Amino acid sequence: MAHVARIRFLGTAAAVPTTSRGLPCVCIEREGGLLVFDVGEGAQAAFARAGLGWNRETAIFVSHLHGDHCLGLPGLIQTMSMQGRSRPLAIYGPGGTAEFVTANLRMLRFSPPFELAVRDVWEGTIHHTKDYAVSACRADHTIPALSYLFREADRPGRFHPERARALGVPEGPLWKELQRGREVQGVTGTVRPGDVLGSGRPGVSVGYSGDTRPTAGLERFFAGCDHLIFDSTFAEEHSGRAGATGHSTAAGAAALARNAGVGHLILTHFSARYADDAAPLAEARRIHHTVTAAADQMSIEV
Ligand SMILES: [Zn+2]
Ligand SMILES: [Zn+2]
Repeated sequence: MAHVARIRFLGTAAAVPTTSRGLPCVCIEREGGLLVFDVGEGAQAAFARAGLGWNRETAIFVSHLHGDHCLGLPGLIQTMSMQGRSRPLAIYGPGGTAEFVTANLRMLRFSPPFELAVRDVWEGTIHHTKDYAVSACRADHTIPALSYLFREADRPGRFHPERARALGVPEGPLWKELQRGREVQGVTGTVRPGDVLGSGRPGVSVGYSGDTRPTAGLERFFAGCDHLIFDSTFAEEHSGRAGATGHSTAAGAAALARNAGVGHLILTHFSARYADDAAPLAEARRIHHTVTAAADQMSIEV
């Protein structure tokens, strides 16, 4: 099966980088385009290591304006500029994001050689193409914060040329019409797309929580999503800290994933206080059936 998208983890630490984890940054790579969720400090170095390319169609989604999620923006914009980016760059984030980016660039007396469109957004569909949409939902953190959901349009079923020929539709423009979902006239009468196309497949959905406590609203927002990347800052022994600091435990993320009917839960944003991800991962796996702990430069085909 051809994979149309890949999730790449560029930074999976919470708050401070460690020797093995950089600050939050996750990419969805699809057919030439990149969607980037959060840009922690140093993200451009992880970008370079991953070989993601500096001039691809790119949209960036910032969850909130805590430094570990946005301080990489000025550096990434400068590196893209020095690497010859010419395509426009779209950046979305909660209120204050546009001011954060423009103030940084102004103080650096830096003006990128490409078009930069930074927009403050809140809930709803904020970015879409004919192939996918990204929507936002308010998260529950210590400052205004957003969670994001990437949803691909449903993929059409496979075209069967032999069926089209058998129904008297010659190869050419009429095949294109059928593939676009329109009826055509064959030699023996009307031919419907369903006569020549296999059944369609639902598009892939990927959720990204940013920093948040688990909430009923997010449970609805992420309902049925295929892959959910969720705040797992703390293990259960520090669940009090999680609530107090506007974060989730791995078990809290797993309970939300289970209740929301999520397929695959991916834990990220790990506190530096844990030597490894064994405890949070084990706690989440007791609650949800499919759980992965994210690691820097990990890549998942979806
Ligand atoms: Zn954070
Ligand atoms: Zn935060």
